[in-house]
Amino acid sequence: MQFEQSPQDVLALLDHLRTADAPTSGGRLLSYVYDSGVTELDELAGDAARKAQPLNGLDPTTFPSIATLERDLVALARSVLAEGVDGVVGSVTSGGTESCMLAVKSARDSWRAATGRDDRPTLVIGSTAHAAFIKAAHYLDLRLRVLPVDPDTCRLRPADVAAALDDSVALVVASTPSYPHGALDPVEEIAEMCAAQGVPVHVDGCIGAWVLPWWPGADTRTPWDLRVPGVASLSVDLHKYGYAPKGVSVLLYRDRDRHRRQWFATSAWPGYAVVNPTMLGSRTVMPIAAGWAVSKALGTKGFDELTGRIARSAEQVRSAVDGIEGLRVVGDPVGPLLAVASDTAVPDDRRVDPHRWADAARELGWVLQPQPGKTQSDGTRLPRTTHLTLTPVTEAVAGDLAAAVTEAADAVRGVPGAEAPEEFVAAAGQIRPEDLTSENCAAVLSLAGLDPTSGLSGPMADLLALIEALPEHVAERLLIEFLARFME
Ligand SMILES: *Cc1c(COP(=O)(O)O)cnc(C)c1O
Repeated sequence: MQFEQSPQDVLALLDHLRTADAPTSGGRLLSYVYDSGVTELDELAGDAARKAQPLNGLDPTTFPSIATLERDLVALARSVLAEGVDGVVGSVTSGGTESCMLAVKSARDSWRAATGRDDRPTLVIGSTAHAAFIKAAHYLDLRLRVLPVDPDTCRLRPADVAAALDDSVALVVASTPSYPHGALDPVEEIAEMCAAQGVPVHVDGCIGAWVLPWWPGADTRTPWDLRVPGVASLSVDLHKYGYAPKGVSVLLYRDRDRHRRQWFATSAWPGYAVVNPTMLGSRTVMPIAAGWAVSKALGTKGFDELTGRIARSAEQVRSAVDGIEGLRVVGDPVGPLLAVASDTAVPDDRRVDPHRWADAARELGWVLQPQPGKTQSDGTRLPRTTHLTLTPVTEAVAGDLAAAVTEAADAVRGVPGAEAPEEFVAAAGQIRPEDLTSENCAAVLSLAGLDPTSGLSGPMADLLALIEALPEHVAERLLIEFLARFME
């Protein structure tokens, strides 16, 4: 075989491209990546993925090893998250978004089957539920009802859920915990009320359900998984705290028929019979094999040990933030996620804006994730925050992280948060939806001083201020334009 470029050269090029990336190991990137800090596990995941490289997950009857891998992962999830519950079944999906979307599809089709109606049912979520549910309502054409959460605890209130229930509701979502603030919704109370009305509850444990079972105090917390009677389905991502490469999540159902409504089959074409449990047709088995191998190797004891490392570092990081004048941890997060807001109990000149803080931390080599403030439907406001996802590797760097976030806060204390220029926001608010063309959006981005071709090199605080201030449909279209032009 005559190659145009030698494989070594191609790989060297890839290595070179990867030098531009945020550091995916070592604990300095506090979102997106879930670093066990255990080299053998990463190697095992890579080796297992390689063995599955030629497979096509489209047809587990042709490649029965796939059925075994998926059966094992579902069985493991069932043993951890549905202890003592009979009849729980499930599927392996490509990630949290797909798990959430399939749970919504199943609920929509179950609602239609039960009511005999073919119109749009309602999906009820809290304002802190993952955006995957907004996406699900959008793709699957459900009405979306977004409930405000308690602005202090950031938890969904059962009374609000009760008031939202009617015969159009196909599914209520509770998060364990929510991504933005790490807040654990009161699943038991919500599920009990929903069960009384015959409305199913989906527990979104995409991020939390593979750490909370081993988090200190787990045995004293009220149950939030499939052991709770009104919980119909539960999602958990193995490409987060299952330490697998991206592309593997598990979706469990209490009821077989609900599970089957997630599926799609057609014999209405002249090709092979299409029978798909998930959205994709041909699909990779590499991350599934990796997730399977990691979980086999670790066992629940291993997950327990890694979770202990995260919990210790969470305590350390939280007490560091508690000790910083001008910042506060939002609510009382349980688990590996923290959201940090400005402490409005101190005078203006002692406050720390969380986005300026994240920008200052970035200067010191730590990548935190700024999140916009949001006004809820009841008029209350969720403050702007900066999010930290802690992983087992955090334990090794917790002291350095504490020092860096303290230094970053000192650097920006008293500096007011960024505000979007008023004239700009007023002008952008006037843009009619039909005028949001690619060219116009590019012009608006450049007026705002944003250059997609150079990526996000400047301060994030200014960008977040724009996202907060613009009407949602304008902000969303500009975000698409920005990323699309960056990619182009
Ligand atoms: C990550 C996450 C999702 C979506 O998962 P992806 O794997 O990114 O598609 C859904 N819900 C919660 C709570 C999450 O943290």
